[in-house]
Amino acid sequence: MLRPRLAPLVAAAPQAVPFVGPEAIERQRGQTFMARLGANESRFGPAPSVLAAMSAALSEAWHYGDPENAALRSAIAAHHGVAEAEIMAGPGVDALLGLAVRAYAAPGDPVVTSLGGYPTFNYHLAGYGARIVAVPYQGDREDIHGLAEAAVREWASMLYLANPDNPMGSWWPEAEIRAFIEAVPETTMIILDEAYGEFAPPGTLPPIDTSRPNLLRMRTFSKAYGLAGIRCGYIIGARETLEPINRIRDHFGINILGQVAGIAALADQAHLQGVVTATAAARERIGRIAAGAGLVALPSATNFVAIDCGRGGAYAQAVLNELAARRIFIRKPATPGLDRCIRISVGLEEDLDLLERELPAAIRSLG
Ligand SMILES: *Cc1c(COP(=O)(O)O)cnc(C)c1O
Repeated sequence: MLRPRLAPLVAAAPQAVPFVGPEAIERQRGQTFMARLGANESRFGPAPSVLAAMSAALSEAWHYGDPENAALRSAIAAHHGVAEAEIMAGPGVDALLGLAVRAYAAPGDPVVTSLGGYPTFNYHLAGYGARIVAVPYQGDREDIHGLAEAAVREWASMLYLANPDNPMGSWWPEAEIRAFIEAVPETTMIILDEAYGEFAPPGTLPPIDTSRPNLLRMRTFSKAYGLAGIRCGYIIGARETLEPINRIRDHFGINILGQVAGIAALADQAHLQGVVTATAAARERIGRIAAGAGLVALPSATNFVAIDCGRGGAYAQAVLNELAARRIFIRKPATPGLDRCIRISVGLEEDLDLLERELPAAIRSLG
């Protein structure tokens, strides 16, 4: 039988997905997880005030949301002290990364990122046919000097940096980030992914400055605000940089729950502060649990901890598998060098109680 022709970009795209969900692993194993500590979600959840706002909006579900997301963008703009036109909202950073790639990287264009960095960005690069230029980490941190050099050398269309970083949890201070931005050519669109920005120590995030046309800063309600399942995030950028993205976005991408949730979340900074404090305490506890099992936790400015298992990638994978068999979901980096680590997201006391019991047992069982 004849078949419709597949679009060439899609025909050339790999089958790989950026993340296999815990649900897929549960189906495969025929067993549910008892602790979900792999996806960097916030176990502390959204603020009660956010849940109330979403509940009130439920009866509005029959109508479309405002395609311009005006109230949401206005609240975000006020929060950061920028103009509404300098905010682009979308259904999560993951979706916004795709739009940014589609807008600023033509098929075949070189795009610079870190080798082992956030995989969803690479997923979009592959899907839109860009050429990935990957710069290895240096000492478990993204190599900002190497990234900027690669952008110059390759005449890169785009460059991606997550600060703080996923999967390693490491971060660069503000002054270094500013120098890095200066070192990148003006013709390279910089994506500064600040999904974990709210968790970072003071002096990590540069002040907001929308005067640079080649900088897109991405933020999300998925992590510190505890709304991963609602899908709401945004870009802060110069208006002329965001305008082209407006030509290709999905106008109803953020549903009405996402719109009200984002506004309510920003309004409840006390809840955010509570989450940030509780996250820091849980990170410390994960560090102690790791040490108790003879492993080394790396410093983290995020809501997860990368833990060096000390014996290379195959061993770290075995630790992950052991934890899965003990019904604890975690993830790990796959890139050589980083792959000696497992990555454990912050959880509630009960989640970490389970980890405290099972991690040392998992290590003992591996001998
Ligand atoms: C979790 C994460 C995201 C995803 O954000 P969403 O708004 O949920 O799409 C983006 N970037 C990094 C580095 C992340 O870890």
